[in-house]
Amino acid sequence: MIGTAALAGLSAACPVRAQTGMHQRLLCLDTHLDTPASLARPGWEMMKRHSRDQDLTQVDYPRMVEGGLDGGFFAIYTPQGPLDAAGMLAARDAAFLRAMEIRELVAAHPGQFELAFVAEDAARIAASGKRIVYQSIENASPLGDDVSLLRVFYRLGVRMVGFIHFKNNQFGDSATDKPQWNGLSPKGRELAALGNDLGMVLDASHASDDVFDQMMELSRAPIILSHSGCRAVHNHPRNIDDDRIKKLAAKGGTIQINSYNAYLIDVPPNPERDKTVAALRQKLRPSPNQTAAEAEAARRELVKGMNEIDARYPEPRATFDMYMSHVTHALDLVGPDHVGVGCDWDGGGGVTGMEDVTSIPKITERLVKLGYTESQLSNFWGGNALRVLKTAHEARKI
Ligand SMILES: [Zn+2]
Repeated sequence: MIGTAALAGLSAACPVRAQTGMHQRLLCLDTHLDTPASLARPGWEMMKRHSRDQDLTQVDYPRMVEGGLDGGFFAIYTPQGPLDAAGMLAARDAAFLRAMEIRELVAAHPGQFELAFVAEDAARIAASGKRIVYQSIENASPLGDDVSLLRVFYRLGVRMVGFIHFKNNQFGDSATDKPQWNGLSPKGRELAALGNDLGMVLDASHASDDVFDQMMELSRAPIILSHSGCRAVHNHPRNIDDDRIKKLAAKGGTIQINSYNAYLIDVPPNPERDKTVAALRQKLRPSPNQTAAEAEAARRELVKGMNEIDARYPEPRATFDMYMSHVTHALDLVGPDHVGVGCDWDGGGGVTGMEDVTSIPKITERLVKLGYTESQLSNFWGGNALRVLKTAHEARKI
């Protein structure tokens, strides 16, 4: 939110500035922010400007302001662990702690952030100059055997529920695992029904095609793909085919395009690299018992180690143009009322030419060049996700 009057003055003289001005005027939401993961890092400060080169992060308050990102869905992400009693308890505790960290962020910076619960909150919060914090769940595994725990997450403010992550869980099949339930499990069907009853948005990103189909069939409200790409552009199971995108749109839903490298282009398997990255991350994983200085030293070592791994096991990297080819494919297919942005920042997103949230005005700039109007871009950048949220809320029964 920078002075629009100042920008308007510049606009007349400079068309690029005019587009930047439009981008800053638009209410921009990203429907999948993994930034809450940064909040658990001792000493990491949301209000300070960081850089991907320094600590691999992609979103903080100063960079949100610079990139014109008004907010989005902050994900309570839990990695898929073992589905035994101990694993489920650990997942439950991790998710509640993450939810607490999101609330602590907002409580600590009431002038900069505000929790949002219904679609109407977004414009009001943006108008007050604050960032909009909706919450989502990525991976419902923390609910364990007790679907009713979703009510507690709802009370905490969660309004979108992604059922599954990289692996199958008790609720259904993952796009990146072998079919086990042939879609949703019986508990997954219960979860869809309760999500609907509460007025939460059902999120099919990471879920298998069968789960998508069954969710579409079961849900009273439109559903969302909070961070997914187009399979017609790049054939990867995490992306979705044209027929399904059309069905999603016909029901009023939206696909929010992901910028996760391995879903945008072919990345040949490199088990040696994966093993080395996993070992490094395991060795340097943040711990709440670290001092800020220890955490900072670990971050530096992680960045250095990742640079060494990139040099030793190079990996092809998608470009901004490749990202935009997923965006424009979806736009050509279903139009600007059913496409948006879910870049997966701080969760593996980012491409050459769009490395962090400061680069998102480039998306607007490109779409303006392609002829999209400000009102179409307003839907693309936030209106579509908010419409899905509103429709889900209106279809609630509890
Ligand atoms: Zn994800």
